[in-house]
Amino acid sequence: MSWRKKVVIFVLAVSVFFVWYAVFAESRDGLMVYFFDVGQGDSIFIQVENGTQILIDGGPDDAVLAELGRVMPFYDRTIDMVVLTHPDADHLNGLVEVLERYRVKTVLETGVKHETAQYAEWNKRLSERGIPIVHAVRGQVFRIDDGLMLSVLAPFSSQNEKEAKKINNTGVVARLDYYDTSLLFTADIEKDIEEILAAVFADSIDADVLKVAHHGSKTSSVADFLAAVTPEAAVISVGKSNRYGHPAPEVLNRFENIKARIFRTDIDGAVVLRADENGYAFIRQ
Ligand SMILES: [Zn+2]
Repeated sequence: MSWRKKVVIFVLAVSVFFVWYAVFAESRDGLMVYFFDVGQGDSIFIQVENGTQILIDGGPDDAVLAELGRVMPFYDRTIDMVVLTHPDADHLNGLVEVLERYRVKTVLETGVKHETAQYAEWNKRLSERGIPIVHAVRGQVFRIDDGLMLSVLAPFSSQNEKEAKKINNTGVVARLDYYDTSLLFTADIEKDIEEILAAVFADSIDADVLKVAHHGSKTSSVADFLAAVTPEAAVISVGKSNRYGHPAPEVLNRFENIKARIFRTDIDGAVVLRADENGYAFIRQ
């Protein structure tokens, strides 16, 4: 065989490989939710069957980039929506790096005032890149795919340009509904917001899976809130031997009392959920 033929065959083989790689990588059935292991912080990646990708928070540093690299095809440099729940470092910092490496189509955030260098950098990069921003407020619903919607449950009023007494309580609370499966993402909200949600909006917070608020801090996950959510599973995103003592033993007890399965990123590593029209399961990666 001439070297020219060999080159042609090699090139064809390589292109066939990439076509199939792309087909397999893009054609995941159903919904995948990855609670990344980013140490002390939150970062959650949602991959939808129709190709939509959503990233909620970015953790405290660039660890999120390696996590994204493991679950996104290498040629995919676009994320459809990035949600910044609130501008504390353990949610924001990784996202500043994400803006550098990925083309982000939309940002959902509160716009609350907060004086840190990283938040200033985030806002600078958003405006430099002209990324459309949606300011989160209760009542917004994003219809993402057949049977799939993302709803904003808090903040209850716009926080854009507002000063906050407690930044944790300005956080974006969102629920994801996919056929019969529901997940509730509670950022770092504390008991004040949990109590309002449980007392006034109990119908909207019943969910199968709860991303536990504020890394399992004892200032969150109050009993009334858990009684309204009735989660089958609780996911705690938390760093190993963190200096805050998260998750608090009393919070773990509360989840044990309601017989919720507990997943922890400090013990389990990344926690991965797959859902389809028939239900959901946590899977090993
Ligand atoms: Zn946090």
